[in-house]
Amino acid sequence: MSAKILDGKKLASEIKEELKIEIAQLKKTGIAPGLVVILVGDDPASKIYVDNKKKACEEMEINSQVFEMPECTTEEELLKLIQKLNADEKTHGILVQLPLPKHIDEGKIIESIDPKKDVDCFHPENVGKLSIGIGKLLPCTPAGIMEILKRNNIEISGRECVVAGKSNIVGKPMAMMFLEENATVIVAHIKTENLGEITKRADILVTAVGKAGLIKKDMIKKGVVVVDVGMNRLSNGKLVGDADFENVKEIASAITPVPGGVGPMTVAMLMKNTVETAKRLYKNNLND
Ligand code: NAD
Repeated sequence: MSAKILDGKKLASEIKEELKIEIAQLKKTGIAPGLVVILVGDDPASKIYVDNKKKACEEMEINSQVFEMPECTTEEELLKLIQKLNADEKTHGILVQLPLPKHIDEGKIIESIDPKKDVDCFHPENVGKLSIGIGKLLPCTPAGIMEILKRNNIEISGRECVVAGKSNIVGKPMAMMFLEENATVIVAHIKTENLGEITKRADILVTAVGKAGLIKKDMIKKGVVVVDVGMNRLSNGKLVGDADFENVKEIASAITPVPGGVGPMTVAMLMKNTVETAKRLYKNNLND
């Protein structure tokens, strides 16, 4: 039997509808969530991601502003803008689109963002909180994956979860979040030997590598839930994930498609985080 397709696009629409109601209520109490996105340079993929975020804000009636800065922007100029936004009461979320040009220290930029406005959840303070299970802000892609699993009633506790890829953006926080849910977690990466032996153990397999066709049907066990984060552009222009979708879906019990799986959920979670930071900054100001 073919796997259930876990429709991230539909779920993201549902979440955005829920958020729209919340935003309308917040506006009545004088809180208008605001997100600022900073794009440095002219990487075409980054431009598309920023555009998607902007469109989502418009759809949700979240105030948004995009700062498009030239490739030659200095670290000091970028730090100065972030300082200004940290102090701006109307800005609740600050997102610096990565990757940054090579001459800018990414770590320094991430650390300069007020952790309370860090809607990507990349700041070391927020990463630390996530790792000890007290994180209020959750990184968008793994948070979106958790929503997909939970809203499809997929049990996590006690199950073996394999995460392929150990990036700070997806793999590592995903592993932390699975641990928090009492899963048994294995993280595989580029130096992992016999990937197939490891992925075969998975009840839930999250693949975040960026290699088309990496996960083949003989690398998974029957009934596995496959969450495909990979976004790979083939030479014919087609966008595919890491899994050999057509064959893997014959063995898996459920699978996220690419496109229309994790991607739309990531954007929905960014909107959720912006609403969350707006609410919490407002409460903090009341308590000041
Ligand atoms: P990355 O590109 O920073 O790193 C890739 C990871 O894959 C590394 O940890 C590496 O060790 C691991 N890896 C490489 N070859 C491997 C192999 N043969 N076996 C096992 N692991 C291997 O990671 P990233 O930024 O998390 O991106 C991964 C993919 O996910 C990319 O395709 C990216 O475009 C996509 N992505 C999608 C979304 C979304 O919202 N849909 C969000 C973030 C990333």
